[in-house]
Amino acid sequence: MTDATTASSYVSGGESLAAQASTAYNAALEVIASVEPRVAEATRAELADQRSSLKLIASENYASPAVLLTMGTWFSDKYAEGTVGHRFYAGCQNVDTVEALAAEHARELFGAPYAYAQPHSGIDANLVAFWSILAHRIESPALEKLGAKNVSELSETDWETLRHEFGNQRMLGMSLDAGGHLTHGFRPNISGKMFHQRSYGTDPSTGLLDYDRVAEAAREFKPLVLIAGYSAYPRRVNFAKMREIADEVGATLMVDMAHFAGLVAGRVFTGDEDPVPHAHITTTTTHKSLRGPRGGLVLAQEEYASSVDRGCPMVLGGPLSHVMAAKAVALAEARQPSFATYAQNIADNAKSLAEGFLKRDAKLVTGGTDNHIVLLDVSGFGLTGRQAESALLDAGVVTNRNSVPADPNGAWYTSGIRFGTPALTSRGFGHDEFDRVAELVVDVLSNTTPGTTKAGGPSKASYTLADGIADRTKAASAEMLEKYPLYPGLDLL
Ligand SMILES: *Cc1c(COP(=O)(O)O)cnc(C)c1O
Repeated sequence: MTDATTASSYVSGGESLAAQASTAYNAALEVIASVEPRVAEATRAELADQRSSLKLIASENYASPAVLLTMGTWFSDKYAEGTVGHRFYAGCQNVDTVEALAAEHARELFGAPYAYAQPHSGIDANLVAFWSILAHRIESPALEKLGAKNVSELSETDWETLRHEFGNQRMLGMSLDAGGHLTHGFRPNISGKMFHQRSYGTDPSTGLLDYDRVAEAAREFKPLVLIAGYSAYPRRVNFAKMREIADEVGATLMVDMAHFAGLVAGRVFTGDEDPVPHAHITTTTTHKSLRGPRGGLVLAQEEYASSVDRGCPMVLGGPLSHVMAAKAVALAEARQPSFATYAQNIADNAKSLAEGFLKRDAKLVTGGTDNHIVLLDVSGFGLTGRQAESALLDAGVVTNRNSVPADPNGAWYTSGIRFGTPALTSRGFGHDEFDRVAELVVDVLSNTTPGTTKAGGPSKASYTLADGIADRTKAASAEMLEKYPLYPGLDLL
């Protein structure tokens, strides 16, 4: 792999590797087409779509061909319940190799005492973490008190008491409209059904996390789990402070770094902003800013290691061995010096995008960014998030609508648009391109007018984009996208 500062070469690793990837994909598509040609066609179409759209979805990225190719192998055919060297199935020596490698790379990359590579997704990583915390904090002391080695030894009555305790613990997490995630104790997710939940928000005037308020809520609510992490908060978090708060009330600090793991891996977030040394348990996805395969990881301090290790069979079935292999490849990539450059570029580009909006008088939640997210408040354009998202999509700009703090339009229509820089930074976009993106977005939104309902009132969904704007935006985007091609040298026949 070359150590290039332009991200566009990360995906090819040079011309000869790009040529080999072309050969591999062309052969694979031919084999697929021999069984179900429509799947081969959709796969080709997906690459064409990804190459030609301005992908600003904050949770998406482009994994390297090495990562993608690793997922398409016979590791998919293997059952490997258990842990490395301790499986419930025979013949797992090669799965052991790749799982151990993924865990080793994760430990080294993040400086974590322990890493668990089996979770299939971010949600699964969080489920493993929740049950590990319950096992460590509730089950183990109960077993000790009752003199039992494991739950199977408990009498029916003791088991009923323990089951009741599992379901009656408290979790304190960031509110959804401040940028928190559904898995942090909200009712539509199982976390909200498992835990009594309360949330901390952000300061209404600044949009920033207020640690005094978090501490106040923690003292009052006394959670078992204090959870930090976000999907739509455009700022850094001081995890050392979060740990102090957790310690004061005897909570376990869990950090869900699903969105910003790439910035931790690339050492953009260090010291108090690096969650791994401060949290008891850190979870992440591997496919967002970390740029790996679709999956999850759990990192833990030593005291939680044995309970996290029981993720399978606690909440997981057989691991996706092919994806664990791809995690090992992606984490090896993230340990290269070029990844640190990439991560710094993600943050620099977010700043450029934010400045591009601010100098064109657009309003940003918190007034800017210092991570990979920019949250644009579109109320200044007289639009809902839903109208803005649709108008932008018509113009080939792919984003998603998002609530802003105390959103007057609720969680469905919203008043915000969330932008993220990881994907386009992978293509090689820099300051000038992100400034241009801001210009194009402002142009589209300034030329979008809200529609009216049948009754004649203002609509939150319908809109009109002025003639010619979509084409003008698409042409300007195409120029940039051609200059920074996705997977350069990868040519499908
Ligand atoms: C994306 C995300 C998840 C869920 O990840 P999946 O892989 O989609 O299950 C969990 N937590 C946070 C904070 C996220 O941003």
